Amino acid sequence: MEKYWNPVLETLPREQLQQLQLKKFQKILKWSYENSPFYRSLYKDAGLEPGDIRTLDDIRKVPKTEKSMLREAQGKEPFPYGSILSVPIEQVTEYRQTSGTTGQPVYHPETWQDWEWSAESWAYALYAQGYRDYDRVFLPFGYSVNIAFWAGHYAAEKIGCEVVPGGVLNTEARILKMKEIKATALMATPTYILGMADVAKKKLGLDLPKDLNIRKITSAGEPGACIPATKKRMEEMWGAKVYDQVGATEIGHWGYECQAQAGLHVLEAFHLVEIEDVETGASITEPGKRGSMVITTFDRFAHPCVRFDSKDIVEWSPIERCECGRTFRLLKGGVVGRADDITKVKGVLLAPTAIEEVVRDIPELGDEYEVVVIKKGDIDDITLKVEIAPDFKRDASAIEQKLAQQLRLKTGLRYSLEFHDYGTLPRYDVKAKRFKDLRAKE
Ligand SMILES: [Zn+2]
Repeated sequence: MEKYWNPVLETLPREQLQQLQLKKFQKILKWSYENSPFYRSLYKDAGLEPGDIRTLDDIRKVPKTEKSMLREAQGKEPFPYGSILSVPIEQVTEYRQTSGTTGQPVYHPETWQDWEWSAESWAYALYAQGYRDYDRVFLPFGYSVNIAFWAGHYAAEKIGCEVVPGGVLNTEARILKMKEIKATALMATPTYILGMADVAKKKLGLDLPKDLNIRKITSAGEPGACIPATKKRMEEMWGAKVYDQVGATEIGHWGYECQAQAGLHVLEAFHLVEIEDVETGASITEPGKRGSMVITTFDRFAHPCVRFDSKDIVEWSPIERCECGRTFRLLKGGVVGRADDITKVKGVLLAPTAIEEVVRDIPELGDEYEVVVIKKGDIDDITLKVEIAPDFKRDASAIEQKLAQQLRLKTGLRYSLEFHDYGTLPRYDVKAKRFKDLRAKE
């Protein structure tokens, strides 16, 4: 039997775990009501007192929150966190902000205790992925205002790993440093994991995975490790296991793959995840149906997150017990999309991740692609730009046929296909913007 970070907590029988979740929910609800002007008025308007919540089913009576409400609350006092702030501002020790590509960022404060909680939550995930005290972990990210892998850094230290900050180094220097010190693990976005491998091969002439010593990679910040074709590419390039990990600045880190790679474990001792039908709002408690995730973060008190409608599309896994022994419930295929990202093209619902799955599953195509949706008169027109790997240029027409057929099968749409020279589509360092919807918004 493997040694866990906390075997008592992680293998609790379901009923005991649910009792623990109820208790923790009641605690954060009461805290928010008593300390946050935002939550107090939200609950008063709904006629809700914290004492009304006595069972897990009662939780559905608690009004949901969403990002636009956080933004609005941040326009209020005290600057810059606004009326959700639930501790005296003097207790705030950490400043973060969301990294979304649209709109005003949401500011996120944490106290020192909250920050320790954040590192602790990551430590559970990293331990489950096999991080141990003998690992030398490299972090190739910008160490800036966004949360990114900050908590991963502290969590790896907590486990006892040796942590190497790759902050302001450029990509080439980061790769050479990993090689020089024989780093065994790294954490990055899938876009950057693929990008680094490309630079290592093309610019530095390295023979991957032989020339590097990376054995495990934690992939976060974007879908990728939950898209089987993308995960396979990353694992083959690096000769390493790639683990999906999910969180958001306002929520904290809440989901992770363990070494069994059987789905995304919800960190249930730290969060309550509910899944709701997107159309009816009905609760989904069984596998087999996708819905939007509503999440509550326990034990993080400066800027509470209670029943936050994350708009992440998820589905419970039919696997009842993971072979790793953890009883935390699994989501099938991780976060399969975002309610905001799913868009109607030619009357068909399209999730951008479905296009990625097709492109990355064709080995003759490069990692990069770009999707552009425009209106031609009244009709939607969708263009997919891809790159053919240099060795396969002469097979272009066969590849085109395969691509068109797979796209039709997996997304139900016809595309204008554009083939570009290898290396000419835009490359991204952190989060990619590969889906461009240029239709006028109604
Ligand atoms: Zn597991």
